[in-house]
Amino acid sequence: MATFNDARVRPANDHKIRPGQSYVLYWMQAYRRFNRNHALDYALHWARHLKKPLIVFEGLRMDYPWASARHHQFMIDGIIANTAHATQAGIQYWPYVETPEQPARGLLTKLAHDACLVVTDDYPAFIVPGQIAALASKSECAVHAIDGNSLVPLKLLGLAVSACAHLRPRIHKLVAEAWQHRAVKEPTFPTGPKIDPPFQLAIGKHLPKVADLPIDQKVKPIDGIVGGVVAGHAALKNFVRHKLPRYSEGRNQPDDPAVTAASGLSAWLRYGHLSIQEVAEVVLGDGWSPEKLNAGARGKREGYYHDDPNVNSFLDEAITWRDVGYHWHMMRNAERGVRNAEWTTVDGVKVPLFHDLASTLPAWAKASLDAHAADKRAFQYTLAQWEGADTHDPLWNAAQVELMATGRIHNYLRMLWGKKVLEWSATPQAAYVVLEHLNNKYAIDGRDPNSYTGILWCFGLFDRPWPPERKVFGNVRYMSSDNTAKKYKLAGYYEYVRKLKY
Ligand SMILES: Cc1cc2nc3c(=O)[nH]c(=O)nc-3n(C[C@H](O)[C@H](O)[C@H](O)COP(=O)(O)OP(=O)(O)OC[C@H]3O[C@@H](n4cnc5c(N)ncnc54)[C@H](O)[C@@H]3O)c2cc1C
Repeated sequence: MATFNDARVRPANDHKIRPGQSYVLYWMQAYRRFNRNHALDYALHWARHLKKPLIVFEGLRMDYPWASARHHQFMIDGIIANTAHATQAGIQYWPYVETPEQPARGLLTKLAHDACLVVTDDYPAFIVPGQIAALASKSECAVHAIDGNSLVPLKLLGLAVSACAHLRPRIHKLVAEAWQHRAVKEPTFPTGPKIDPPFQLAIGKHLPKVADLPIDQKVKPIDGIVGGVVAGHAALKNFVRHKLPRYSEGRNQPDDPAVTAASGLSAWLRYGHLSIQEVAEVVLGDGWSPEKLNAGARGKREGYYHDDPNVNSFLDEAITWRDVGYHWHMMRNAERGVRNAEWTTVDGVKVPLFHDLASTLPAWAKASLDAHAADKRAFQYTLAQWEGADTHDPLWNAAQVELMATGRIHNYLRMLWGKKVLEWSATPQAAYVVLEHLNNKYAIDGRDPNSYTGILWCFGLFDRPWPPERKVFGNVRYMSSDNTAKKYKLAGYYEYVRKLKY
């Protein structure tokens, strides 16, 4: 393959590719699109090489942690858009939505049985690593996981870092080379014998209605937010036209999402309906090429990608900060093995848990929080109070209402939201459990590598000690609603939240 970077390939088992089987299977788990998709490019390469049809399987189970109408609807929107694309492009696309009548158990093993090779997305968080490991160990078929997570293959970024500032120069050094190895913009698909799927495709009248499924129906789909590639493109276009020109100055100002300069793209990125490559291409513009990278600003936050501070500031978030979370997970999985959800109970509610604080925090943060474990908390809340936006703090409550109603919290307030749960919980671990649960239950971009690194940042991950030492926080960075109100005008945000219904 001329442009493919082999550093993206991770064989998940030792099995050999079996040229005698019927097809190459692309199991589309994370990057749910047919454009600019490294795993798809790799699967297409093998299909052509082996002269076999390519089957693209996009599955949606009912039993993933925090399964809800909200997450399901977004993914089903994506399936509808992908079906339209596949029909027009002649792709053998097998969308599957699990129902009680058509259970998922054993289906992938069955599909893998007839495959020469299974290719899938090496998404490093949530249930995906566990699912890859399970299929790889059960199946006789070779399973290759492809890192299509970012512009630069994560493996090339070296060992885990303790700060974003350490990863930035490594990314900058590799961007120009990675740009030459981008995924194919609009791949073409080989024609080949048509294969009948061994299950009812989730298409047309056979696409289950979200409201009929035994998932959490109380976490409702979000009004006005549509999943899928088409809606993702529209959101990107809207951002570039109306918000990018004021991103650098405006992104931290909390406001109505229609007003704030933040892109709001994280949900489409999360489900792979939008590729980070396309985001970078569009933001940098047609005339851009790696020769325009500013060598003098290499490793710096400003000025490397572009001389427009808005473009640069946005790409520092969308590439450097986003990559920090993906890289951290990838390295952690490699070092410690895959961790599936464990279950714990908070105030009588059973919640899934993918990480724990003890093994995730830097030593200084853990020691500092431990030293303040016995500090009296000024307030403490139950899960029902957190969830019901029922604290003494109007700004925290507003952020929680926004999360429940819209699946989003403005970026700056998301940090404050996390910090306050730490401050008003009996222990840091109790706070962590509440945050993982609330973020992943309600946030439409939740259950992502950046969900975890975002939450863990509130406890000191990727940060540094901040004097003076305070109650509860120790040297972990402190944030307060009063300071936020001094820094930003909040009237517009309160007004927006007041109108939200949940
Ligand atoms: C407590 C907490 C929880 C978080 N949970 C999530 C989550 O579930 N999913 C998620 O994608 N991000 C999460 N973040 C990171 C960040 O808040 C969101 O990525 C950002 O708010 C998404 O909004 P946007 O697309 O408008 O961002 P923009 O400002 O427009 O940024 C563009 C893109 O850059 C990336 N990005 C921006 N800020 C960050 C950041 N701080 N860390 C990592 N990537 C970033 C995202 O992919 C984002 O879409 C969390 C942060 C905190 C503090």
